Amino acid sequence: MARTPLIAGNWKMVLDHQSGTLLVQKLDWTLKDAKHDHDAVEVVVLPSHTSLRTVQTLIEGDKLDIKLGAQDVSAHESGAYTGEVSAAQLAKLGVGYVAIGHSERRQYHGETDELVKAKTAKALEHGLVPIVCVGEALDVRKAGEHVPFTVGQVTAALEGLSAAQVAGLVLAYEPVWAIGTGEVATPEDAQEVCAAIRAAVAGQFDAATAEAVRVLYGGSVKPASIASIMAQPDVDGALVGGASTDAADFAAIVRFR
Ligand code: PGA
Repeated sequence: MARTPLIAGNWKMVLDHQSGTLLVQKLDWTLKDAKHDHDAVEVVVLPSHTSLRTVQTLIEGDKLDIKLGAQDVSAHESGAYTGEVSAAQLAKLGVGYVAIGHSERRQYHGETDELVKAKTAKALEHGLVPIVCVGEALDVRKAGEHVPFTVGQVTAALEGLSAAQVAGLVLAYEPVWAIGTGEVATPEDAQEVCAAIRAAVAGQFDAATAEAVRVLYGGSVKPASIASIMAQPDVDGALVGGASTDAADFAAIVRFR
């Protein structure tokens, strides 16, 4: 079965609930104007936790086809974890997706493969679709180790899950050197690693699971670069940071075809 492309906008710590709401409204108008078919290309926004409620109210109230995701989730079920937000809390709010193991979390908050795995399992337990982020830093790429390094992160994150769980989740290949730098990977670079990720899933689970799992590319995706990246057979969408905080740019990325 063909995989439905997914374009996800990671707002990071950039938009507040007011600017985020305005952006979703503008994005929705722009996509409606363009007669965007949300079944053909799924659109997800990932606001800060503080904006989730407001954006969810807008999406539900106006019956928008835009889907809601969070940028992080706790690995714990509930209890004395000050500052953390649980998968159950997100699910109750109507959140459908959650980014896990973004390189900024790994880099600035010391998130390990072990924690990413625990968060992924917890998100799945509560019916959230994890967007598990992986990718190498520049020194790893320069050493030519980017494929084994990235595949290792994927294998660690998925360990212990069932094939059915993996088939429904999303993996995002985001080379650290391409995030927020304006230096987008070439379509061939993106394809090389996304294909290797899919092959690794086939090895760890089975061919049908690898065929079903969606693999995104992320890192300085812009309207001008999206089409050539999406033309790659193993790239099923994009995780967009900077360009997702501009409604016109993000809509243009969603409308890559
Ligand atoms: P960028 O961020 O598009 O600003 O490079 C991508 C991401 O971090 O998800």
